[in-house]
Amino acid sequence: MKSEYDVVVIGAGPAGSIAAKTAAEKGLNVLMIEKRQEIGDPVRCAEGVSKIWLRKHIEPDYRWICADLKGSRIFAPDGTMIEMAEEIAGGEVGYVLERKLFDRALAYESAKAGAEVMVKTRATDLIIENGFVKGVKVMHLGEAYDIRAKIVIGADGVESKIGRWAGINTSLKPADLETCAQYLMSGTGVDQNYCHFYLGNEIAPAGYIWVFPKGRDIANVGIGILGSKSGEKHAIDYLNDFVQKHYPDASILEIDVGGVPVSGSIKKTIVNGLMLVGDAARQSDPITGGGIINAMEAGKIAGEVAYNAITKGDVSTKALQEYEDRWRGSIGYEINNSLIVKETFTDFTDNEINSLAHSLEGVNFTSMSLLDLLYALFRANKKLLWDLRVLFKNVVKYELDFER
Ligand SMILES: Cc1cc2nc3c(=O)[nH]c(=O)nc-3n(C[C@H](O)[C@H](O)[C@H](O)COP(=O)(O)OP(=O)(O)OC[C@H]3O[C@@H](n4cnc5c(N)ncnc54)[C@H](O)[C@@H]3O)c2cc1C
Repeated sequence: MKSEYDVVVIGAGPAGSIAAKTAAEKGLNVLMIEKRQEIGDPVRCAEGVSKIWLRKHIEPDYRWICADLKGSRIFAPDGTMIEMAEEIAGGEVGYVLERKLFDRALAYESAKAGAEVMVKTRATDLIIENGFVKGVKVMHLGEAYDIRAKIVIGADGVESKIGRWAGINTSLKPADLETCAQYLMSGTGVDQNYCHFYLGNEIAPAGYIWVFPKGRDIANVGIGILGSKSGEKHAIDYLNDFVQKHYPDASILEIDVGGVPVSGSIKKTIVNGLMLVGDAARQSDPITGGGIINAMEAGKIAGEVAYNAITKGDVSTKALQEYEDRWRGSIGYEINNSLIVKETFTDFTDNEINSLAHSLEGVNFTSMSLLDLLYALFRANKKLLWDLRVLFKNVVKYELDFER
């Protein structure tokens, strides 16, 4: 470890590793620190990603891909099933990863690109001088160090402190956080070709249960419910009820618990000398809670912007605005749309969810995008889904009668 770098990245998840790799490939002097002793472990993830989006960042490798899926099956509370092909099923369907190996593979890519990686190294505070973040204070094996950097990238995940230390409001209300619990199970007998999603207020209030196959009759069986809906019964209690009903004879090999931000975009993700990326910047999808791909996308943009800013000798918010503009113009756009969908669906009763599912009977999904699917739902249920009209404003201009 040196005492000074161009860029210090805090956190070696997907956001941090891609940011470090991108900046190092550009020739910057980069350090990535990770508080855990093993990158990627423990896992707090259902490990589903979209194939197309993943390939944008890394060549798929079957050493860290457990399952290659055909699509997803969504179950309404009354059991009505909607089956969607993988290409349209959204960000979390395609491959199911082994994140312990995937996160490590990404960190390896960043090291291969020239970044220095240090594990068991925890950021304890930022160095701030004259209104600029100038580096980070760390603890490594019981010793404290000051590491100076032209730019700090905060990639420290859902429990991020970096944003707060920098004066960025990243606080989450209970309604902005999905609380999750997951079992890695063997012996479920689940169809290994499909991700399964179960909806309904009885089983997962304002959330869903997922069953993601991982090959060899192993699967991630988990639940996410809105923090604001978690009362006497917690996420794990709902999960236990589901497992007892569906897989009474399966074995639990691992338990994971964690939170996913579903707040939508926060107001700012930069200050002088610092950018926030991934879950630290609340960039996960508000409907599904999926955040791996968005974290990688944001990490890439942050790495590129770090290079541009450092080359120009200007790391002020004015120069870093390029990061803010680029991520908001790409993943930010999708996040905003997802937030509208989430807010529309959150308070639906089970009967309303059933009737939405029934309205899709006979619709052929094979050549539809997710937006097409939402549009089909909207057309059939305009009154119920009226708030979604903003998503279709271009389509609507030409095709839709705006009368309710
Ligand atoms: C139960 C569950 C299921 C999920 N399922 C999916 C899914 O199927 N698909 C999907 O796309 N997303 C899923 N997600 C979300 C996904 O896991 C995150 O969006 C993703 O990991 C975000 O990546 P990140 O790099 O921003 O943060 P993280 O992956 O959380 O990485 C942050 C890293 O920073 C480190 N760190 C934290 N503080 C410090 C510090 N002070 N100093 C040094 N290091 C620090 C942490 O140890 C961690 O390694 C799920 C989340 C949960 C909880």
